[in-house]
Amino acid sequence: MSRVEFFRHCVGAEERQAVLEAMEGLFLTTGSIVREFEGEFAAYLSQGLPGGEAPLSALGLSSCTAALHLALLCGGVGPGDEVITTPMTFIATPNAAVYCGADPVFVDVEAHTGLIDPAAVEAAITEKTKAVIAVHLYGQMADMRALRRICEAKGVWLVEDAAHAVEAIRDGVRPGQLGDAATFSFYATKNITSAEGGALVSRHAEVIERARVLHLHGMNKGAADRYAKKTYVHWDMVELGFKYNMTNLEAAMLRPQLARIEARLEARETLCRRYESAFEGVDGLDFPRVVEGSRSARHLFTLWVPPEQRDDDLLALGEAGIGVAVNYRAVHLTSWYRERGGHARGDFPVAESIGDRTLSLPLYPDLSHADQDRVIEAVFALAGPARTREGS
Ligand SMILES: *Cc1c(COP(=O)(O)O)cnc(C)c1O
Repeated sequence: MSRVEFFRHCVGAEERQAVLEAMEGLFLTTGSIVREFEGEFAAYLSQGLPGGEAPLSALGLSSCTAALHLALLCGGVGPGDEVITTPMTFIATPNAAVYCGADPVFVDVEAHTGLIDPAAVEAAITEKTKAVIAVHLYGQMADMRALRRICEAKGVWLVEDAAHAVEAIRDGVRPGQLGDAATFSFYATKNITSAEGGALVSRHAEVIERARVLHLHGMNKGAADRYAKKTYVHWDMVELGFKYNMTNLEAAMLRPQLARIEARLEARETLCRRYESAFEGVDGLDFPRVVEGSRSARHLFTLWVPPEQRDDDLLALGEAGIGVAVNYRAVHLTSWYRERGGHARGDFPVAESIGDRTLSLPLYPDLSHADQDRVIEAVFALAGPARTREGS
């Protein structure tokens, strides 16, 4: 039998056609297709904003890592500042703070969701705290209303790492609507992808204006802007920037995926509910809970198994032809952060516990229910304490 891959992209005929058309255009790199994608992405995320509130603005970038870096710089984060974030995330999140010369300060997460705990954030704020990065883990948004309140009261810049959460809604708001800036990833396995890519979104138009300068070397005009005048226009370098721009080819690939994003979310939702009903109430199995009344972007389905069995389970599933991953082992326990931050086991017990128990199962819109049933059977076939449905 063929393997059930951990992830398969669903980039198809429409995306191929769009990229081919883009290749026939004059600009392969940043140009009008990027501008169109930015408009559509900002419009998608602006849905449900109260009337009278200005829509969000977006900037296409080369990665979510780049977006995190720019989001912090736009918040004035620099050397000696502290940036509070969660250890239950991908390393890109705290790394962005280090790029700015700041110190990541980790706080623990909620046990039932793995999301950053607003009470722990509040307790960790000091005079040095310049920013908080909330991570919308697995597709579910952190408690943005609570975090907004805390950050506003203390004058702290609030960034949302929404790499998992394009489609998410919680308490009636989407990523980018309450934070000062939100960052997105279009990396190969994310819900929409251009192989590599990202975006920065903000409700402050001036943040996107500043990031637009920073994302291309600190130049005050991009190539397409310079060319639009038909005669040569001089540009100036007004501050030290980076090379973080998105290309027209990537934007062309993203636009049809954004147009189909709701239908794909439905498929993800159905698959996640099938996993949840299979594993609900099974001894030795648990999974993070979606908060009542919220909509998860269902980016990853993670199962929590007994910590002493997790690594064996990963191996056994791999041998059974099931693609698996780990999202994530707690970041503060990586060698570099242990050394840099003086971290050790026991610092953030909830994140550590999730990191020891977690295992991600295949999830993508084109995963067939038959293949998903093979995954579920393989989980039930794992060795260890009786993993039988309660009462059966
Ligand atoms: C994927 C991911 C990133 C990094 O995204 P890139 O586009 O690869 O830079 C950051 N944070 C989280 C939570 C992610 O999952």
